[in-house]
Amino acid sequence: MPRIFCIANQKGGVGKTTTSVNLAAGLSRLGQRVLLVDLDPQGNATMGSGVDKRQLETSVYDVLLESASIAEARSRSEKGGYDVLGANRELAGAEVELVALEHRHERLRRALKEAAADYDFVLIDCPPSLSLLTLNGLCSAHGVIVPMQCEYFALEGLTDLVNTIKQVHANLNRDLQLIGLLRVMFDPRITLQTQVSEQLKAHFGDKVFNTVIPRNVRLAEAPSYGLPGVVFDPSAKGAVAFVEFAKEMVERVGTAPAPAAS
Ligand code: ADP
Ligand code: MG
Repeated sequence: MPRIFCIANQKGGVGKTTTSVNLAAGLSRLGQRVLLVDLDPQGNATMGSGVDKRQLETSVYDVLLESASIAEARSRSEKGGYDVLGANRELAGAEVELVALEHRHERLRRALKEAAADYDFVLIDCPPSLSLLTLNGLCSAHGVIVPMQCEYFALEGLTDLVNTIKQVHANLNRDLQLIGLLRVMFDPRITLQTQVSEQLKAHFGDKVFNTVIPRNVRLAEAPSYGLPGVVFDPSAKGAVAFVEFAKEMVERVGTAPAPAAS
């Protein structure tokens, strides 16, 4: 049974995709078998893994519409060392098409069950909205990882996300938990960021990951080479931080209660 995590935050540009791709590559470097699911029609996680979204013959879209299994629709990130269930603009249409269908919010969960034996971790890169696509992610997962910048408005959006997680937990997926808040693009020289970081720790306690991801231009450059930052420049401080984060995730999962079936 893999552990399944959504990387979610309804804001755009907060580092969801960077976290998804680099955590996938970091876990792979630690010997974990990883599937990265791209649930964003922008397909950035797909491209950032070195898989060309324009060339996809099958994608997460086909899986959601039950015209392909994950085994049929996945691609391989050779450099990243993990599998990718890719996305492209076609996925934007799925939102509308799904509305009329049965089990519309648990299509991904059902598909992941069939692929369970192949992976230790499944990471789901969510779009910047609390949409039916995100709901498919949340209904599939054991936990949510929330990347956030330590800025004033970061805390505002968090309340909505935490409420959504509570509602999904209460009504649709009893397994779902907030795993943790990941501080990203962090610059300790900015006083406000240090203050918000302290507020987060005071308010959320051990729900704040120990690892902090620094602002690092090498992480921003890597996608244009179709590589995770962790592979593009392993010695850059951003890459080192993501491998540290992967270790922290493996440790957390190791200490968490074992999943129901194995
Ligand atoms: P999201 O998926 O939430 O929209 P992205 O991961 O695409 O966010 O990140 C938004 C932008 O910020 C991208 O251009 C990305 O390269 C850049 N970025 C993300 N994390 C970092 C970081 N730690 N240091 C520098 N740039 C970053
Ligand atoms: Mg993204």
